[in-house]
Formats: sequence, structure tokens, C-alpha cells
Amino acid sequence: MASSRAGAILKRGFLRRCPVCGRGHLFKHWTKMVARCPRCAYHFHRAPGQWLGSWFLNVCLAQMIGVLFLIIAVIAAWPEPVGAGVAVGAVLVTALWVLFFFPFSRTIWCAIDLAMKPLDFGDDVAPGFELQDEIDTFLAEQTRAGTPESEQERAEHPPGDAEDGKAPS
Ligand SMILES: [Zn+2]
Repeated sequence: MASSRAGAILKRGFLRRCPVCGRGHLFKHWTKMVARCPRCAYHFHRAPGQWLGSWFLNVCLAQMIGVLFLIIAVIAAWPEPVGAGVAVGAVLVTALWVLFFFPFSRTIWCAIDLAMKPLDFGDDVAPGFELQDEIDTFLAEQTRAGTPESEQERAEHPPGDAEDGKAPS
């Protein structure tokens, strides 16, 4: 249940959609993201340093793509050595990847963030767009919040105690 929810959220991220409601068109242009979702009002910048994660994701993947490019170039040219042009090509491919993947890195990171940290009231999501799982979790917490008192009472006054107390008389 929880994994299918995370899967649905991540899928929205990979499609450059809002992780909460699935709305697309979240970018004014390729690298300029709107602050809030036009449909559900979800605030994408949830915490200071929010975009460090998306940068990390993007740069790590870009480096992997650059190295992959070099490996393919070396294998293709084997046994001849590769020229300096290949190094320039690797740098270009890496830079282009960073640019290409930028919006995906943003929405994927938003999805990862939401999957790890469920919605709360501070996210200001419009009524009706809360995820059902979040509502279920909230209700479950409310129910659980009521139980510790009765459990504590039971621990302090176990049914056996009362009987033992009455037994001598
Ligand atoms: Zn939304």
C-alpha cells in the first residue's frame, strides 16, 4: 500500500508533474519552475535548501552520463587511443545533460521529498487535494492518540490487582 503510493508519487515526478495532484505545466520555461502548483496550491519549496537535493541528483547523473560517454568512446576507438575531442565531447554531453534534466530533477526531488515527508498543514494544499493515505494516517494517529491513556490505566490498574485487593476481605 505504502509502496504503491510512493510509486504513484515518483511516477508524477518523472513526468514533471505535481507530486500531490498530478498537474503538469509547472515550468514557465525549461529552467523556471512556478512556486506553487496552479491546481492544488502545493508549495514546492517546502524547506530551506530544498533544491540542494535536486542539484545533487542532477550532477550525480550528469557525471555518470559523462563517464559512460568516455567509456563508449574508448571502446568504439579501441585499440586506437581517443583524441582530445572525446574529452571535449564528454564535457559537452555532461553540460547538456544538466540542462536537459533540470526540470526532471526538480519534480523528481519534490516527489522523493513528498514520499519521505507526508503533507502537513504547513504545505497549504487546497482542500480536496490531500492524499487519501495522508488522511488515513492522520485518522490513525488520532485514534492511536486516544489509546495510550486507556493502556496506561490498564497498566496501573490491571484487572488482577482489583481482584487481589478484594480477595483478603
Ligand atoms: Zn498540484
